[in-house]
Amino acid sequence: MHELSIAESIITAVVQEMEERSLSSVSVIGVRIGALSGVLPDALLFSYEVAISETVLAATKLEIENVPAEGKCRNCGVDVRLGGCSFLCPECGSGTVDWRSGHELEVAYIEAERSCRGEPGDEVES
Ligand SMILES: [Zn+2]
Repeated sequence: MHELSIAESIITAVVQEMEERSLSSVSVIGVRIGALSGVLPDALLFSYEVAISETVLAATKLEIENVPAEGKCRNCGVDVRLGGCSFLCPECGSGTVDWRSGHELEVAYIEAERSCRGEPGDEVES
């Protein structure tokens, strides 16, 4: 399943981010998915739930932000904006659209708590 490998790559990226930033727990992971990415949000959510069950992210929530496809038709020059499943120019029906956005597939944000298990230097007051 396509979405399962995507879910696993999201998990890998977030775990790496946690290590780099010394984060002890993550509550929410936000991802941006473009209309042209070919990813089905519902399928990704399902795959994510399956993939995190054995990881440190088992309690996290995945939030998906859908990014519409935007571009300019190479044939007639009209601006095209799509959120559905047709990727043709609505004016001339051409398939040669230069897309500015819509291919996104990225972790947009992580809501996390910094580790605070009595480590020195962790106090806010000084
Ligand atoms: Zn056109």
